[in-house]
Amino acid sequence: MREDMLTIGAFAKAGRLSPKALRLYDELDLLKPGRVDPDTGYRYYAVAQLEQARLVAWLRRLGMPLARIRQVCALRPADAAREIRAYWARVETETAARRDLAEFLVEELSAASVSRKDTTMLELRYCAHSDRGLVRPANQDTAYAGSRLLAVADGFGPTGRPASSAAINALRILDTSEAPTGNVLNLLDDAVRGATDAVHDVVDGDGEDAGTTLTALLWTGSRLALVHIGDSRAYVLRGGGLFRITDDHTVVQSMIDEGRLTPEEAATHPQRMLLLKALTPAATPDLRLQDAEPGDRYLLCSDGLCRVVPDPRIRHLLTSAPTPDSAVHALIAAANEAGGPDNVSCVVADVVEPTMS
Ligand code: MG
Repeated sequence: MREDMLTIGAFAKAGRLSPKALRLYDELDLLKPGRVDPDTGYRYYAVAQLEQARLVAWLRRLGMPLARIRQVCALRPADAAREIRAYWARVETETAARRDLAEFLVEELSAASVSRKDTTMLELRYCAHSDRGLVRPANQDTAYAGSRLLAVADGFGPTGRPASSAAINALRILDTSEAPTGNVLNLLDDAVRGATDAVHDVVDGDGEDAGTTLTALLWTGSRLALVHIGDSRAYVLRGGGLFRITDDHTVVQSMIDEGRLTPEEAATHPQRMLLLKALTPAATPDLRLQDAEPGDRYLLCSDGLCRVVPDPRIRHLLTSAPTPDSAVHALIAAANEAGGPDNVSCVVADVVEPTMS
C-alpha cells in the first residue's frame, strides 16, 4: 500500500468520523475512497482527503441535507462559502417563522388563563379601497375591512380576480361582531384552509399560472393575529415610526436573504415580480400575533403601492392623514402619481379606545 493511503479505521480516527459514516458517505457519493482493494473490498483513503471528510462532518453538524452537502463539496472554496451562507440564511428565515408561531402559541395559552375582563378592549376604525391603477386593464386585487377583519389579496394570472375575491370571501366568516372565542390560531388556520380551497376551486383547470396572495389581520379586541403569504404587506405606524410586519415571499427577496443579490439589484431584476409562495394547499402561510396599542395605525397593501411608493413617503402620508379614509386615498393617489403600473389596494385601521355612549 502507498504510504499516503490510510485504512478506513485510521482515516476515520484522523477525521473524527466513524467508519460507518465513511461507508455512508461513499454510498452517497459524498466522499469516495481513494482506492478500493479489488480483492478484499477494503476502502483506503488519501491523507489529502481529510480536509474534505472533515468539511462533510461539519456540514452534517450544521444540519445540511446530504444532497446539498454533495453540491457544496463539488465547489471551489469561495463558491462553497457562498452556498453555506445561502443555506444558513434560509434556515434562519424558516426558524424565524417557527419562532413567531411558538410565540403565538405561548400568547394564546397564556391569554386563556386570564379573564377577558382584565383586558382593555380596544376598537378599530378602518377603511379599505382598491384601485385599478393607470396601466392594468382590470383590477385583480381585493381589499376588505370590517370590525374584526382586515385583508388584502392580490390575484394573478387569468383567473386572478375571482381568486383574490374567493380568498377574501372565505375569510369573511371571521368578521362577526363578537370577539372570536376559542383558539385564535385554530380559527385562523381553519379560515385560511377554507380560503385556500376556495381559491383552488376557482383556478382549478385554468391550465395557466393563477392564484392570489393573502395578507390579513384578525382583531381579537387587544391583539391582531396576522396571516400572510405572498408579496402584499402589512405595516404598523407606532410612535411616529413605520414598521413592516411581513416578509415578502418573492424569489428576489430570498436571493437577497441568501446574499446572492443586493436590494439595489433586486429593484431592477427581471424576475422581481416572481412569487416564491402564494395561497396554495402546498404552501404554509406565516402566522404571528401582534399586540395592539391605542394609537397604532395599521396598513395592509398590495405590491402596487410599495413597489412604487418608498417607505419614507408611505410613513409621511400615513402620519399626516387625519383618518383611515383619508390615508387610504392619499396612498392610492401617490401610487397613481408614480405611474400606477399595477392595481393598488390599501386597508388602513386605527386602534382606538372605545367611545363611551
Ligand atoms: Mg400586484
